[in-house]
Amino acid sequence: MNIVIFGPQGVGKGTQAKLLASHYALKHISTGDALRESIKSGAPIGKIANNFIQKGEFVPDDVVNEIVEKDLAKHTNGWILDGYPRNLEQVEYLHSALEKLDQKIDYIIVLSAPHSVLVERMNQRREIENRSDDIEQIIEKRLELFREKTKPVLDYYNEHNIVKTLNGVGEIEEVNKYIIANIESLKQG
Ligand code: AMP
Repeated sequence: MNIVIFGPQGVGKGTQAKLLASHYALKHISTGDALRESIKSGAPIGKIANNFIQKGEFVPDDVVNEIVEKDLAKHTNGWILDGYPRNLEQVEYLHSALEKLDQKIDYIIVLSAPHSVLVERMNQRREIENRSDDIEQIIEKRLELFREKTKPVLDYYNEHNIVKTLNGVGEIEEVNKYIIANIESLKQG
């Protein structure tokens, strides 16, 4: 089973993606995590990525496209894609990569939450994880980029795929059970 999970920053999509990956034995492919690891390890792409992440901007498409394509090729037994595709150019790239690999997206899950909840959660996360991009002005910029660049991706998928939009507000376990119940009902058709 291949899933793409969407949602604005702070909605808890990373946490939910990890839980779903472990529940369904899927590979969790997170471009944000991969970029943060490459920064930590001092890899050349980490140096490029760091500048963009700190400013709350998107990392160039060719950098993230390469990460995703390599991971998709390695993990043919099911994956959950988190944080990608984030713009229509990445959608196009993903589709040609999936075609080459003879893979397809089965379900698309969109998590939503009110703006005030997202800002509050990112402020809390800054205290816990000390992420350099969870700073007030940068948070607003990232949410704006989501509205401007990633909403059109959701519109595209709403027209072409099975998309389930779910409320991401609640206890982690509760939201997780709710997502799983929805995936199970999607499976029943
Ligand atoms: P995330 O952990 O998904 O919120 O990603 C953290 C940051 O990594 C984003 O704010 C972007 O700067 C960068 N990033 C992650 N995924 C992508 C992507 N698909 N396209 C461009 N930049 C990305």
